[in-house]
Amino acid sequence: MGGRVAIGGGLGGLVILLLSLFFGNGNFSPEDVNIGNGGDAGNGSYTPTEEENQNAQFVSVVLKDTEDVWHELFQEQGSDYVEPHLVMFTGSTDSGCGYASAATGPFYCPVDSKVYIDLSFYVELADRFGASGDFAMAYVVAHEVGHHVQHLLGTTDKIDAMRGRLNERQMNAMSVKLELQADFYAGVWANHAQKMNDILDPGDIEEALNAANAIGDDRLQQQSQGYVVPDAFTHGTSKQRMYWFKKGFDTGDMSEGNTFDEVD
Ligand SMILES: [Zn+2]
Repeated sequence: MGGRVAIGGGLGGLVILLLSLFFGNGNFSPEDVNIGNGGDAGNGSYTPTEEENQNAQFVSVVLKDTEDVWHELFQEQGSDYVEPHLVMFTGSTDSGCGYASAATGPFYCPVDSKVYIDLSFYVELADRFGASGDFAMAYVVAHEVGHHVQHLLGTTDKIDAMRGRLNERQMNAMSVKLELQADFYAGVWANHAQKMNDILDPGDIEEALNAANAIGDDRLQQQSQGYVVPDAFTHGTSKQRMYWFKKGFDTGDMSEGNTFDEVD
């Protein structure tokens, strides 16, 4: 998790103001919105596009939906769900896990319990990965929240504690299982969100599966080096990702999500 120094730190002010006006309903606090543009670092302000504003609003709605579901599921197990913070950004951002470049995409940082959503990733999903539709983005948000759930349940720490005892190949395999479980939790969320809030339109699950398919490791050629990219670890194949999302969606049962035992 080697970090790099963040650049473009002073750009956010105007944008944060704009967004807080836009989101006057207080869905999230202005300090959690960090829209900068790494490419224009240091020379002026950056105004989010209309599309980015719409994506930001959509992401906050999805996050709220995840909170409804996870509060209930944690309560059923007799524990409290602690909501993650949401940071939306375009370009680059700093995080408790280090510097994230424009190429990072969405990620979760267990150190500061924040979900970082790269608003431009929605466009990238559609244009570059051919996974369009708003539910594709919802799946991405739900996947990152899945990592937060793993953090709350202690799974992330358990895997992290294996570092040093396992060789690189074994550790990589554990990372894959962690990723697949986040996909599974995204599916569990979709199952319950549908029951609670009737969120799904026809074709939504296909959109999520299509996104899972599009951003599997065997399809992802993107190389990210020198930055901390929690979600640039191996994610598993497209087939594995679709399998686990679907299993979560079909069962809606958290106890079915032991990706660490199951060999597929
Ligand atoms: Zn992930």
